[in-house]
Amino acid sequence: MDQDLATIVRETATEMALAPVRGRVADYIPELAKLSDRHFGMVVITADGAEFAAGDADLPFSIQSISKVFALVEAMASHGEALWQRVGREPSGGAFNSIVQLEAEGGKPRNPFINPGAIAVTDLITDGDDPRAGAGRILRLLRQLSGNGGIAMDGAVAYSEAATGHRNAALAHFMKAHKVLSGNVEATLSAYFHQCAIAMSCRDLARAGRFLMNDGVDPASGQRVVSAEQARRINALMLTCGHYDASGDFAFSVGLPAKSGVGGGILASVPGRASIAVWSPGLSPQGNSLLGTRALERLASATGWSVFNPNR
Ligand code: GLN
Repeated sequence: MDQDLATIVRETATEMALAPVRGRVADYIPELAKLSDRHFGMVVITADGAEFAAGDADLPFSIQSISKVFALVEAMASHGEALWQRVGREPSGGAFNSIVQLEAEGGKPRNPFINPGAIAVTDLITDGDDPRAGAGRILRLLRQLSGNGGIAMDGAVAYSEAATGHRNAALAHFMKAHKVLSGNVEATLSAYFHQCAIAMSCRDLARAGRFLMNDGVDPASGQRVVSAEQARRINALMLTCGHYDASGDFAFSVGLPAKSGVGGGILASVPGRASIAVWSPGLSPQGNSLLGTRALERLASATGWSVFNPNR
């Protein structure tokens, strides 16, 4: 299998590098609009620790909404079940920054992976008025899990989003009006923009996600990150809500828990088997990496990996 996997990863990266249709780079955050759509990177880490990398595997990119997985880890650790009073666990069937559903449902966001859900989670882990506390917790966790102490926030991306993030501000203030947020709205938003602006490579990300394939334990250090039950729940949310209004389509065509970000990254896990990160900045209309999704589809089909196929 290892030999096969090396070939599959290499061939997938070559195919994606040459793909003529590459999606559209996010332009609503001006700093992200500067990215070339030519990039493609991929890293697969198997349960035995072997790493298979291809393309721009070591180039850092803005993780954006992939940070929502790690914010959830922090909130689970500090707030346990109480977290679910603030945020639901249902797919939204809508865009990541949609406002209409939030109003119809009394300010409680559907799930932790759409923007209002993630802002509510960040509010929980942002201590008082200090935005550095919330985003700092996520950054520390990512450094520790990836083993890369050099991971940092891209200040230009955070500033760029803060300067233009009026929809997120509207979502946050609306939730504050409904008492779904308890902290200072400006501090929570700043923490949220900074966590989204964390820059990591596919290799860092695939390493940071290893606990998701391993019942909540980081296989590199043996350290428990979340309980086995919490790891299953995070994977369930990634499968059902990780790609917004394309989550059903992603489960249908790839069949793996995964979380996307508008920087073009996707973190996926194959429970018991592998942790995978892909990156290509061109997005689908729903805001998910077009070639990243296609690469995962190709990988899942070539390996047989799927949560619906426990024998592979
Ligand atoms: N920071 C981005 C935003 O709030 C994250 C969205 C995403 O990656 N889908 O719009």
